[in-house]
Amino acid sequence: MRGFTTKALHTRSPKKDVHGALRPPLYDSVAFEFENANQIQQAFEGKLPAHTYSRITNPTVEDFEQRMRVLAESLGVIAVSSGMAAITNVMLTLASAGTNIVSSRHLFGNTISLFDKTLADWGLEVRYVDMSNEDDIQSRIDENTRALYLESITNPQLEVVDISAVSRCAEKFGVPLVLDGTLTTPFLFRSRDYGVDVEIISATKYISGGATGVGGVIIDNGLFDWKKSRKVSSFSKQYGQFAFLARLRREVFRNCGSCMAPHHAWMNTLGLETLALRIQHSCDNAMGIARFLAGQLKVKAVNYPGLPASEYHAIASTQFKGRFGGLITFGLQDKEQCFRFIDNLEIIRNATNLNDNKSLIIHPASTIFGEYSATERRKMGVPESMLRLSVGIEDREDLIMDIQKSLENI
Ligand SMILES: *Cc1c(COP(=O)(O)O)cnc(C)c1O
Repeated sequence: MRGFTTKALHTRSPKKDVHGALRPPLYDSVAFEFENANQIQQAFEGKLPAHTYSRITNPTVEDFEQRMRVLAESLGVIAVSSGMAAITNVMLTLASAGTNIVSSRHLFGNTISLFDKTLADWGLEVRYVDMSNEDDIQSRIDENTRALYLESITNPQLEVVDISAVSRCAEKFGVPLVLDGTLTTPFLFRSRDYGVDVEIISATKYISGGATGVGGVIIDNGLFDWKKSRKVSSFSKQYGQFAFLARLRREVFRNCGSCMAPHHAWMNTLGLETLALRIQHSCDNAMGIARFLAGQLKVKAVNYPGLPASEYHAIASTQFKGRFGGLITFGLQDKEQCFRFIDNLEIIRNATNLNDNKSLIIHPASTIFGEYSATERRKMGVPESMLRLSVGIEDREDLIMDIQKSLENI
């Protein structure tokens, strides 16, 4: 079995380029023409594997999807316009009004808003649980539960739970397990090996790397028997194990118009080539910085799963094979000190992205979680005194120097 980067570099495109171009070209074309009327009919019926219209499939997007499929060792992948589009499409495919999903109480901010506002308006109930507590999970599942949902590393709490244990609960009740693996990607976490049925990833983050375009992917690991899913089972007869992907591609994804732009797919394919190198470097940097922060008197509550003091260290070590991602949270005295710390920094930028090649810092309580009350934020584990640092791939000494100089003047 070849390694991650070899596969990222050498997975062949589904079709050989007519000119033999070594870098697959960018097909920025909406429509594709056919030799005759019979051929286009066959393409529409799915009997001829051909692209017809880029909202449904596109050669450059397909190239990216196939590479992701190989890297995740999964059944199939659909690339979408954003991480949020990935979550929305999966929920629209699995659930409907009057049903529920059982979700981790710690979620990406926009995902909470999607669940509690947008999808709630369409009659979906979301039941929040402590994913580290199997009794809590099982007591909330009933015959109307359509999915279990969690993130591989939550943000900004950086909670890591035993995903195999959650998967066993899902399996016991015949419910698919959906995981947001944005912070890990298949390089850090092989979700298939832990019983995850569907993984969604915001490609905007680690995969694009350079923060060049917003994008997302939906991965079907091929583990779930879709005949058990009330909404997908009607597609099982014709599409077998591909029922979920077929319902997405031929209905939900197509009708919602959630396609990834070919240009973004092309940039993401480029990002995949160096993904392992970049993640490894950002994890190494983050470990060094977390250790440095833990030794500073002015810094409190350094939270990084890589530190042995973290309550998630043991489970993260096995699940992510000794790497712990690029996110660190830590506390200063109060909001004012956090603001001064951010403003003093010269290299680390103040922006709301994460897993960018550049190191980025943000004060979550006043920005990403600004729409919630102080009480709600405390429940979410987002205190006023917390900073979130996304560690990039700069030279570590420069980052530590930047942090040290800023701390001296807060
Ligand atoms: C950014 C992010 C998303 C949303 O992705 P977009 O590409 O910005 O839509 C979802 N989940 C997590 C964990 C994220 O970090």
